[in-house]
Amino acid sequence: MSVSHSSRLNKGVREQYMKLPQGGMAQVTYVWIDGTGEGVRCKTRTLDQEPKTIDEIPEWNFDGSSTYQAEGSNSDMYLVPVQMFRDPFCLDPNKLVMCEVLKYNRKSAETNLRHTCKKIMEMVGDHRPWFGMEQEYTLLGINGHPYGWPENGFPGPQGPYYCGVGADKVYGRDIVEAHYKACLYAGIKICGTNAEVMPSQWEFQVGPCEGIDMGDHLWMARFILHRVCEDFGVVATLDPKPMTGNWNGAGCHTNYSTESMRVEGGLKHIEDAIEKLGKRHDYHICVYDPRGGKDNSRRLTGQHETSSIHEFSAGVANRGASIRIPRQVGQEGYGYFEDRRPAANCDPYAVTEALVRTTILNETGSETKDY
Ligand code: ADP
Ligand code: MN
Ligand code: MN
Ligand code: MN
Repeated sequence: MSVSHSSRLNKGVREQYMKLPQGGMAQVTYVWIDGTGEGVRCKTRTLDQEPKTIDEIPEWNFDGSSTYQAEGSNSDMYLVPVQMFRDPFCLDPNKLVMCEVLKYNRKSAETNLRHTCKKIMEMVGDHRPWFGMEQEYTLLGINGHPYGWPENGFPGPQGPYYCGVGADKVYGRDIVEAHYKACLYAGIKICGTNAEVMPSQWEFQVGPCEGIDMGDHLWMARFILHRVCEDFGVVATLDPKPMTGNWNGAGCHTNYSTESMRVEGGLKHIEDAIEKLGKRHDYHICVYDPRGGKDNSRRLTGQHETSSIHEFSAGVANRGASIRIPRQVGQEGYGYFEDRRPAANCDPYAVTEALVRTTILNETGSETKDY
């Protein structure tokens, strides 16, 4: 059996309770990034009335010693609400709220990369940086084996699965469709989805989002994905190379533009930005997965539609390059470009911040600057 026990509980019985009126109260689920920089955690409290804005949701706290986050004996950490979404699981008037994590001394937790990202995005607000991220992920049974794959063996080689239709081509579409609807309900700027090259691998896209919104929306979309998968009894992994061998890895291609790239003559600004990125490849690789490039080294081999982790390259319509300029952008002469290097398990706050530091703030070298 590859699906979890709790997914086999009677969902009809659950519905009876979910329909009960809740006396004007609102359930607010606080969501945060744990000490691994990859895991998301949540807990829920009751507010006396529906919060209308983020300012109406109070700070809260949690036990950081249980999330790999506490420092010594000071295990209380602060949860600071930063972006509110509708709750697609408990429905209106209930909320999901993305939070920043502060330590006992009110300094950012090590994995709270939003704090500096926000600062940088505010500095460059005039450039109106837009991002769109393509989140690839792989469905696993609770046995850790890709969902739908033969128990003892492998599916046929890659080819028929990408954007495929049919029971022998794609596995787990129920999850993908449920996640898509749940994100729309929540107010996530999800803009599309498709089946990927490896069977049981899927992608959804979020964007375009301006500035800090990219990280907030993608992290909440990931939370919703894990939560939907829990209902179906399977697991979504963001591991950048879940299966070794002739199977595609999972990335988080990051599409990026500034105001000047999006108007006539923009291609020149796109090329300028790519030139700056080419001179800072190592820094970006270091930021594009939670282990300083170690995770991504399993994926960026130069095969399976990736570039080599050791070399920077760019090209129009080239899916084997670090950076791709979409064909349409090359033809029209303005638009955006795609950085194909970020791993599926990257932190979008770190990725978007790095793009801005290099292309707008003109940083070079391996160090970041304090402003
Ligand atoms: P691909 O062809 O690489 O698979 P997708 O269609 O999966 O591309 O994703 C395209 C992404 O580009 C989406 O996330 C979308 O929001 C984003 N995007 C579109 N226009 C812009 C823009 N001007 N600036 C930044 N991102 C953009
Ligand atoms: Mn895509
Ligand atoms: Mn893809
Ligand atoms: Mn892409």
